[in-house]
Amino acid sequence: MAQQKPHQEVVKAMSRTSPTPRDGVMNINAYVPGGHTVEGHANPIVLSANETPLGASSAAIAAYKSLADELHRYPDGSASALRTAIAAAYGLHADRIVCGSGSDELLNLLAQTYLGPGDEAIHTAHGFLVYKIATLAAGATPIVAKETNLTADVDRILEVVSPRTKIVFLANPNNPTGTYMPFEEVRRLRGGLPGNVILVLDAAYGEYVRRNDYEAGLELVATTNNTVMTRTFSKIHGLAALRIGWAYCPPDIASAINRVRGPFNVSAAAIAAGAAAIADKAHVERSIAHNDEWLAWTTRELRALRLEVTESVGNFVLIHFAEEGRHTAPNADGFLKSRGIIMRSTAGYGLHNALRMTIGTGDENQAVIAALREFLDT
Ligand code: PMP
Repeated sequence: MAQQKPHQEVVKAMSRTSPTPRDGVMNINAYVPGGHTVEGHANPIVLSANETPLGASSAAIAAYKSLADELHRYPDGSASALRTAIAAAYGLHADRIVCGSGSDELLNLLAQTYLGPGDEAIHTAHGFLVYKIATLAAGATPIVAKETNLTADVDRILEVVSPRTKIVFLANPNNPTGTYMPFEEVRRLRGGLPGNVILVLDAAYGEYVRRNDYEAGLELVATTNNTVMTRTFSKIHGLAALRIGWAYCPPDIASAINRVRGPFNVSAAAIAAGAAAIADKAHVERSIAHNDEWLAWTTRELRALRLEVTESVGNFVLIHFAEEGRHTAPNADGFLKSRGIIMRSTAGYGLHNALRMTIGTGDENQAVIAALREFLDT
């Protein structure tokens, strides 16, 4: 019989090693959020995080404040009031809705629940960065599908499907490009994927899209057992600070992720404010109308400055700058910051010559155009 090592020796041996994260974790480039501050400007123009310039619904703000005296209570772990309000707004089954701390959490929960070492998850070349992070964090392998003209392409996605593929993440519309895939193409994608592959349709910007051939994903979730749609309250509802997202799922998928999520993953304030926000249809309509007007105006004015702008259906635009010389994206970013205007670098997406601009208030958009005109004249 092998002799047991004395306790001291075991402790010494253990202290020579250190805890190691699972494979993949140290390959993650941590997400860099859009900046909100710039030195020398107490009230900068913040157009870096696709937040709404109209703020939250006053009903949502009132609901949030009404919770101030109840902070010692745990929230309802099933976020029932919020799920019921979402279901009523969209005509859905409340028991197929799972709420999360932002849609970021739901994307991570899907990865955690369905991916492990040896599995693959596909995202497109300039797809939202959280897909890659969630995949690596689950110990799985991210696979990149090429795009065509900065737009997701069904055939390029299907080309990289393998027996190891478990999830396809598709932002529709996509951040940071602002491009979208028409519903017929999404349907063709679903039809071409094996049945065991979950198609995650991330419609964080779905409310802004004004195209007859767009559908956020409800129809495919309703008619298949392997499609999930995720949505957020951070954009059109103006509740980014409260971190609220939701997923509409086939029953089996809702059941699985409900087992994995934290028991109180949505705060009481988020439940109350979210339910009030989704019921305030007039506020949503105002936000859509504002975006329609200023997305068109901003795109037109940027192009009049001879800047290339990717056609966007979201609440932001991707602006392309010169490859070299004085008018590169980093120089534009620096110049805008010196004027107190904060955009988002897209270098993390491999788009080194571009900046992403959120559609702001009328005054903010006009200030951007004036500043860029000055930048390009220098
Ligand atoms: N999906 C996309 C495409 C996004 O752009 C964002 C926000 N940047 C999210 C999901 C996550 O949003 P949240 O976690 O605030 O719901």
